[in-house]
Amino acid sequence: MLFEEFLDICEEQLKGFLENRITSSALFDELNRFARYIDTEEFKCFPDLRNYLVQFLRYYSVFQKLPHQRQRKRAENGFKMIDKMRNVFLLTPNEEIEALKQNTINPESSVKFAKGVGENRAKLLHKFGIEKIKELLWWLPRDYEDRRKIIPLSSLRPDEKVTIMAELLNYSIKRVKDYVIVTAVVSDGFGQILLKWFNQEYITRYLKKGSKYLITGIPKKNSFGPYEINTPEIEEITGEPKREILPVYSLTSGLTQRIMRRIIRKNISVLATFREFIPQSILEKRSLLSRKHAMLAVHFPKSLYESNKARERLSYEELFLFEVALLYNKAKLKNKDLGISKKIVGDLSKRFIESQSFKPTNDQLKAFEEIRNDLKASSPMNRMLQGDVGSGKTFVAELAIIDNFEAGYQSAMMVPTSVLAIQQYEKLKRELAHVGVKVGLLVGSMKKSEQEQVKRQLALGEIDVILGTHALIQENVNFKNLGLVIVDEQHRFGVKQREALMTKGALVDTLVMTATPIPRTLALTAYGDLDVSTIREMPPGRTPVRTMIITENRLSELYAFVREEVALGHQCFFIYPLIEESEVMDLKAATEAAEFLSKEVFPDLGVELLHGKMSDQEKTEIMQRFKKKETMILVSTSVIEVGIDIPTATVMVIEHPERFGLAQLHQLRGRVGRSALKSYCILVLNRGVSSEAADRLRKFASTNDGFKVAEIDLRLRGPGEFMGTRQHGLPDFKVADIIRDSKLLFHAREDAFELINADPELKDHPLIKEEIRERFGEKISLIEVG
Ligand code: ADP
Ligand code: MG
Repeated sequence: MLFEEFLDICEEQLKGFLENRITSSALFDELNRFARYIDTEEFKCFPDLRNYLVQFLRYYSVFQKLPHQRQRKRAENGFKMIDKMRNVFLLTPNEEIEALKQNTINPESSVKFAKGVGENRAKLLHKFGIEKIKELLWWLPRDYEDRRKIIPLSSLRPDEKVTIMAELLNYSIKRVKDYVIVTAVVSDGFGQILLKWFNQEYITRYLKKGSKYLITGIPKKNSFGPYEINTPEIEEITGEPKREILPVYSLTSGLTQRIMRRIIRKNISVLATFREFIPQSILEKRSLLSRKHAMLAVHFPKSLYESNKARERLSYEELFLFEVALLYNKAKLKNKDLGISKKIVGDLSKRFIESQSFKPTNDQLKAFEEIRNDLKASSPMNRMLQGDVGSGKTFVAELAIIDNFEAGYQSAMMVPTSVLAIQQYEKLKRELAHVGVKVGLLVGSMKKSEQEQVKRQLALGEIDVILGTHALIQENVNFKNLGLVIVDEQHRFGVKQREALMTKGALVDTLVMTATPIPRTLALTAYGDLDVSTIREMPPGRTPVRTMIITENRLSELYAFVREEVALGHQCFFIYPLIEESEVMDLKAATEAAEFLSKEVFPDLGVELLHGKMSDQEKTEIMQRFKKKETMILVSTSVIEVGIDIPTATVMVIEHPERFGLAQLHQLRGRVGRSALKSYCILVLNRGVSSEAADRLRKFASTNDGFKVAEIDLRLRGPGEFMGTRQHGLPDFKVADIIRDSKLLFHAREDAFELINADPELKDHPLIKEEIRERFGEKISLIEVG
């Protein structure tokens, strides 16, 4: 075993002791036992190693006799000793990093001038977007080949990546239809294995009978015969290979690992020009490698420990720069008196609250207070209001609109679809009439003349609140005095879109509302520039929705159940993921289903279909009939996903639930259970759904908490999918992964916060500014205001 692996085991053992999984007597025995497995080659490489090891083991030799308190102390010290040994033996020494002298290579010049590149290879590198020499170094390895550990073929284990050294006995090329399969047999004297390449005939150029190769890949068990490795990395060698860890890069045909490694190695000294921009204090606090060290080690690590540390540093710096940029912009807007300082007495909103049939929840009042303080402040509001479906966000938005109105300003509320705009328009018009707020609507389906009329009224100030889609801000709509923009169901809009909004609508107050609770990692990236108000508490008197999973063969029971509910005057949704028959997926189309349900199953109940391709007019009419209970069953595609408020709807049936993200399912579930009536969400599980998918759905069914659902969903699907693939507004990080690196992200946020607090203009950190501009370019601009 490698020394590095030994240290990992020691760490595990010490943890085991501290967590009472290992007794004090077993601890020393275990450490001693594993020490004996350390590869003797390691001692040759590191002459000092033996001394360190003896000391370390001696520290635990009397362990058993010590009082418990001192044992714990020693175990804790063990971690420090391990760290020390890692620093001594597993990291590239400083002298080696400092020795990287910049020679004549200019990092900014075209990659074709890089050593070992030239015109032809430059063209290949362009395919990866590598244009400049310095970008070469950002072509990070996708993996490593560990030549410190060469495994004899006799001790291979399936499905574990290894490097072996073996002689090529023979190879053959087979053609099957469009495929070319190259198979080689290799042996190291202890055993034989097969290597296979598919459609990579060029590999034969490198195959020579009788030559020795280093081969890296994942052995698979073959039911009979020897192990097989598919598409291994191979390199011909003469003599003993050097003990080292080599990078494995993503390649394109025409480049080999060998060439790519040589190119990187020859140009690595470019990083002598890389300047550190993270303050020393942070590097120490977070025990991060320096920039040069990380860049060198990510390509040529001395240990896997070091390659991890290198990646950690590079992820951290990405997250840190991003967070600094967000907080910088936030501080810029906050610190300047750019917004409108609104005079709010609060009489109107008080009257509005008193006129309601319900009392606002504490969370609603708290959110409202936070918003009101922002409206009064001289800096523009940038706030997100998050809360589960039905938690009463719209009510809070209405209060904000009323305050804004009282102060003498207009509001605009944007929602994702026209249907929702129309619905919200009706609701607001009805509810805000008591307090004298005039509500308008502007959507594409209105007649041109009507649109013109509304625009005129807006410009004259005859409309106080306008409802519409995003086009409200994009098109040339003029306001008399816009003071508040509200974006509903906003998880579709990212940092960049908000930026557009802020610059268009001057520096008005902005409130974004989301019904998909945002897990903290995302809140800090996609929404890191916003203040957050959260409604966790649901209005009283709601019965939690019961979620059930049923299989297809119980549909008749389901239909009977729906019938019972309808008999009570309750309504039902049937949701389908698509509207047209998909050849590949074999999905039941919503249209077909609607037909079937209305003709065969519920001919007496009134079934209607709603889908995304209908005109706004049609959609609105269908919704009206459903609301008035002229129809009792609404079959729909996911267009109704957001915002529809039908208190008497109690059953939500979702077909092919595996096709939806959990956050989306949660939204759908929120369409029922909007009153004290007992409500149900029924997921119909079809045959052939994978066990992972079924598992995911069971997790969903087990909780009603939107925050939990969001966390699960984010972990399972990743941030891009979670946010919705289109326009998710997430930054593209090269190295960082906000789920895997969530801890780094929290640290980066904390550190960025301190930095910006101490130096809001980044006066003492010009390199950070430079680096942000360079990395994020157009994706996030540093706001410059007078
Ligand atoms: P959201 O926008 O968060 O999905 P809404 O604001 O649309 O939720 O509220 C859902 C329903 O609950 C509406 O019918 C609303 O009138 C009602 N509601 C809002 N706040 C309360 C409350 N504090 N108590 C009782 N009902 C409420
Ligand atoms: Mg809402």
